[in-house]
Amino acid sequence: MTPLEELKAKASACRACRLAEGRTQVVFSRGNPEARLMFVGEAPGADEDRQGLPFVGKAGQLLDRILEAAGIDPNDVYITNVVKCRPPGNRTPLPDEVKICTQLWLLPEIEIVRPLIIVPLGSVATQFFLGQKVPITRVRGQWFEWNGIKVFPMFHPAYLLRNPSRAPGSPKALTWKDIQEVKRVLDELGEKQRPEVKAARQDPLF
Ligand code: SF4
Repeated sequence: MTPLEELKAKASACRACRLAEGRTQVVFSRGNPEARLMFVGEAPGADEDRQGLPFVGKAGQLLDRILEAAGIDPNDVYITNVVKCRPPGNRTPLPDEVKICTQLWLLPEIEIVRPLIIVPLGSVATQFFLGQKVPITRVRGQWFEWNGIKVFPMFHPAYLLRNPSRAPGSPKALTWKDIQEVKRVLDELGEKQRPEVKAARQDPLF
């Protein structure tokens, strides 16, 4: 087993937070484990919980279409979530759930994949990487750095499904601009050496 497969196997039995109670299964990730570009969403929804893969419902299909339109192969990216189990009724994950799940699974996951660019999708993932609560509307489309990795927040595709307008300045129009910027920087970085990621750990259980 590869280190990532080992990590997935361990996570599949995780019951470290209350989200274990309502899930069908742990939803870990999909895509290329050697991808240079990683997307991090919020949490699995109903389709993902059923199929065991992240971003396979309507929002995931929209993400794939956005990537294809920008010339990025959806099979050549790595897609995961901040928390790996579906919150009841698709509620927002609570801060302690985010803390436990990211410390146990997301941080080691990033350390193994070592992407050049991370795109947090939506406010929960953005808050995790920026370390502060900021409206996604204020920080999307801007470059930040997290442990030597470039971070570029974008709207969550589920938000785009709720806001279908393509008018200038609309979330869809801004997302189109954003994904083109991601593609530009990804091309510029080329096969640049991957960062050695060693994210700070806190004991999630205390
Ligand atoms: S959400 Fe994360 S920490 Fe909580 S039970 Fe699922 S895998 Fe474990």
